[in-house]
Amino acid sequence: MSCASVDNRLSIEKSDAGRRGLCCKNPLRAKANVPANLRRKSPPRLPELSEFDVVRHFTRLSRLNFSVDTHFYPLGSCTMKYNPRFNEEAAALEGFAALHPLAHDNCAQGTLELIHDLSARLCELCGLDAITLQPAAGAHGEFTGLLLAKAYFEAKGETRTEIVCPDSAHGTNPATASMMGFNTVNIASQPDGRLNVEELKKHIGPKTAVLMLTVPNTVGIFESNIEAIAKAVHEAGALLYMDGANFNALIGMVKPGDLGVDMMHLNFHKTFSTPHGGGGPGAGAIVCRKHLAPFLPVPLVQKDGGKYLSDFGDGRSIGKVKAFFGNTGVLVKAYAYMLAHSAKEFGEIAVCSIINANYVAALLKDMYPSYSKEYCMHECVLTPGPDMLAKGLKTLDVAKGLLDLGFHAPTIYFPLIVHEAIMIEPTETESRETLDEFVAAMKAVHDEGIADPQKLKDAPHTMPVKRLDEVQAARQPNLHW
Ligand SMILES: *Cc1c(COP(=O)(O)O)cnc(C)c1O
Repeated sequence: MSCASVDNRLSIEKSDAGRRGLCCKNPLRAKANVPANLRRKSPPRLPELSEFDVVRHFTRLSRLNFSVDTHFYPLGSCTMKYNPRFNEEAAALEGFAALHPLAHDNCAQGTLELIHDLSARLCELCGLDAITLQPAAGAHGEFTGLLLAKAYFEAKGETRTEIVCPDSAHGTNPATASMMGFNTVNIASQPDGRLNVEELKKHIGPKTAVLMLTVPNTVGIFESNIEAIAKAVHEAGALLYMDGANFNALIGMVKPGDLGVDMMHLNFHKTFSTPHGGGGPGAGAIVCRKHLAPFLPVPLVQKDGGKYLSDFGDGRSIGKVKAFFGNTGVLVKAYAYMLAHSAKEFGEIAVCSIINANYVAALLKDMYPSYSKEYCMHECVLTPGPDMLAKGLKTLDVAKGLLDLGFHAPTIYFPLIVHEAIMIEPTETESRETLDEFVAAMKAVHDEGIADPQKLKDAPHTMPVKRLDEVQAARQPNLHW
């Protein structure tokens, strides 16, 4: 791209009085419908541009973005894998897309059957008994899970006020606990991010409601003590919550229910190939054991003979956490993905996610040592090597340098327990060629950084914006033109 072709003006700055696109009379815009006092006194200040100007402007902007469809996206803990287009076709089928949310059960048998079957399959994969598909995201699932715990202990006449979270937990875990009015008890994890069972026992007791455990943990390591952890938690009368956001590393290989987990959430936009959105329509199902089932949000779907019915429970439900059955379109997409794979293939998905992460870690080990000394699961946590650190180069510099080479940055500075963390999740859908290209880019960033540290500290050099003051950008966003 030559510099002359880069035009970073806003559309309003490109405005030229009198320019416009094709215009036709819109019969729906009958002025008479808008009361006089609500009508504009003067026309809105909009850019005046030709249709072609607008198309070029927005197409150019769209190409400045990194996206899964254009770039490898190694964002650790986020599972930015490929979402099959077939999912979209299934969700757009008229019978699903055009169904009115208030339709009577008799007119919604297909959707109810889908919800019923999806629920059964997810329970089977998790080794648990019951499920709600209502929550709209992972964190919303956590919130729902803690509501279930609260209702469960209330019904037993117990007052338990504490949620225990290891310091390696995903930030949403303690955030959810405090939002729910619980006290969060923080436990230091071992250097590998695992929980020490003896240390755990010191922090749990009659006040403990729930231990929230991320599996695999945020260092990308399987919580191999989980059965002993579950036993200790249950002996204290508490519940074990598994943050299963990264279930793509376990699916088809491990059933969390078999390990002693009482409930867990699933992130459909991570494991089940539905789109990530800016918090947008999503699903973060909660799957649980029988003893928590009566408290699940309603309605659920029951099968009665050949018919599917909305089930509003026996009055013990925590109520609703989302309208109707949740974001049903997303459920259709996840169901399409599920039907496209056999049980054996799910195990292969997990294996591929693990092999890909270990492949990247192994090829980069001399320049970016792994934080953990053992094999990782679906993601690896690396750090800049001693030669980079000695030159004052940091993880942020690596992330910015990658942008110039056409790669979205990995997750950085998370997990918090790892100094200068670079968390890479290649996901199961990337080819070996793409991983090789990424490894070559990481090595190029290293070599260029060692050769000319200041240049890497000034990266990115090819992006429309350079380094932002991220704190100020978040606190005082400039949304003004
Ligand atoms: C992504 C993630 C979450 C939060 O999920 P959202 O759908 O973004 O709310 C929670 N825990 C872990 C471990 C995650 O990776």
